[in-house]
Amino acid sequence: MEHNARVNVLINNLEWRIPITHALGWHPIIDAIPSTSTPKGKKDIVWLDSPNHSFSVKVAWEQLRIHHQMVDWHDIVWFKNVVPRHAFLLWVAIQRKLSTQDRLHWFGIHGPNRCSLCLRNNEDHNHLFFECSYTKALWWNVCDRCDIPRMTKSLDEWIRWATVTWHGKSFVNFSRKLGFTATLYCIWQERNARIFADVSKTSNLVFDQIECIIDTTKSLMSFSKCRSVEVINNPARPGSNHKEVNCINYK
Ligand SMILES: [Zn+2]
Repeated sequence: MEHNARVNVLINNLEWRIPITHALGWHPIIDAIPSTSTPKGKKDIVWLDSPNHSFSVKVAWEQLRIHHQMVDWHDIVWFKNVVPRHAFLLWVAIQRKLSTQDRLHWFGIHGPNRCSLCLRNNEDHNHLFFECSYTKALWWNVCDRCDIPRMTKSLDEWIRWATVTWHGKSFVNFSRKLGFTATLYCIWQERNARIFADVSKTSNLVFDQIECIIDTTKSLMSFSKCRSVEVINNPARPGSNHKEVNCINYK
């Protein structure tokens, strides 16, 4: 079946013609399909769980996925304009599921359980991201850059504190969350580069990288804001009020 196939390719003479598949993930979906493709007397096929009966990936996903209770820290990880790969890494880290050396040992994969950043302590989530002398120096720079008090906290304490303190959608809080997620991501990247590629950067260079991420994201937001204001105030558009373009610079 083509990846862009429509529902009607699976129907012949008002009966389903579902391709035979051995993929286990499809079986619950196939089992949930009614035995007849169209109720008697009706010719239109509609998506019953959609408010307007039309299909959308969002509606299908909401119907298929398992719904869990929302965690109170979701806004620290998944916020507007977050870099998705940074959010994903933080989400995994919060659940202590990154393959740090202590976890590899726990799974029976034995190697030198040594932090690749300081080469002194054992590596676990808290040491790698917050307790290591290398990452501490990096955090002080990030805290100063993002207007965050310098603190010594564990990952759980950071998340609890940020959840309470960084609520609201102010641009300062956006910068803090952006810096926080980018820092964890860059620490993990640096750790992996040292282990798998045998290359390393100083904490100052990693901080430059984090600053670049913050500035680039802000510039993209600023550019997006400018474009929307330009469209509204374009003199060529009927009804335009001819105001000057008001470019908001977040730097
Ligand atoms: Zn270390």
